[in-house]
Amino acid sequence: MPPMRIRAIAFQRNGGPEVLEELAVDIPDAPGPGMVRVRPTAVALNHLDLWIRRGLPNLRLELPHRLGADIAATVEAAGPGAEAPPHGTRVLVAPGVSCAACEACLSGHDNLCRRYGILGEHTHGGYGELLDVPAANILPWPGQLSAPEAAAIPLTFLTAWQMVVVHGEVGRDHTVLVHAAGAGVSVAAIQIAKSRGARVIATSTSAAKLVRARELGADETIDTTTHDFVAETKRLTGKRGADVIIEHVGGEVFSKSVVALRAGGRLVTCGATSGPTPPIDLRHVFFRQLQVVGSTMGSKATLFPILREVERGAFKPVVDRVLPFTVEGAREAHRALEAREAFGKVVLASA
Ligand SMILES: [Zn+2]
Repeated sequence: MPPMRIRAIAFQRNGGPEVLEELAVDIPDAPGPGMVRVRPTAVALNHLDLWIRRGLPNLRLELPHRLGADIAATVEAAGPGAEAPPHGTRVLVAPGVSCAACEACLSGHDNLCRRYGILGEHTHGGYGELLDVPAANILPWPGQLSAPEAAAIPLTFLTAWQMVVVHGEVGRDHTVLVHAAGAGVSVAAIQIAKSRGARVIATSTSAAKLVRARELGADETIDTTTHDFVAETKRLTGKRGADVIIEHVGGEVFSKSVVALRAGGRLVTCGATSGPTPPIDLRHVFFRQLQVVGSTMGSKATLFPILREVERGAFKPVVDRVLPFTVEGAREAHRALEAREAFGKVVLASA
């Protein structure tokens, strides 16, 4: 069978947003066994896209590479043995892929699978006319959401759920400090922590983003351009410190978070956008018996309770802006995310 040619937004070398190009790329004539071909209608950006575009040391890509982990789409066709809703049905696509056969996968820890990967990172992603994904990644459309709203959910809510619920074990009577309130994962973490009955303190360098954080349910906010978040957290907790801290900034924010925790508290980290090697005072960690927990993505199974909460209206996808699904739109979207302009998700969507 001759390959099929599709239009895509892809890059052939690492660099800034300008390396994104509109290209014609070949895909198989039909989806392979167990795969479903989808037509992306909206793709939400993640910081991951920026890291991959700039280049990661141990990531080998098939070039030109198509980014895009968070995909709202319509079903195009099912490959042999794949079950899928009828052609044209709107679906959401789970971002994680795994072997579906190993002990980790079968015990609900698919994101610990040795073959775990993310769409748009370890495989091609949604920045193209068509994409083949495993049938197991096809999820029902959440409620009455628009395509950009639907695309804004999977990766950040999955990531935040594992941080807040699984690792953070957040419950009533907990005070949870959520850093960088405008980031997609923070926007999800604030809502998830509130749904568990916790008190939420959000930080940001932007007063406008803190107003939005309060609208999402944050009880207290700290503007870190004018206030030290350690001192403020201590003040707001009667000198005790936060029970759980949700962290993805790294650098000094990570170092100081260790001090802002209560004795026995948990610092959950899923990223290091401002620096991966912060100094850490180990005396805080052992004397005060802190837990520092790494977290990445989440089990695919957790998307089911997440989508139920979205249907109920308890979790709201927050879309900062929708840009056209063109090379110009994609470059502008990358620039905006890189400049930390957004509160919530930046999404590409076809008209
Ligand atoms: Zn596996």
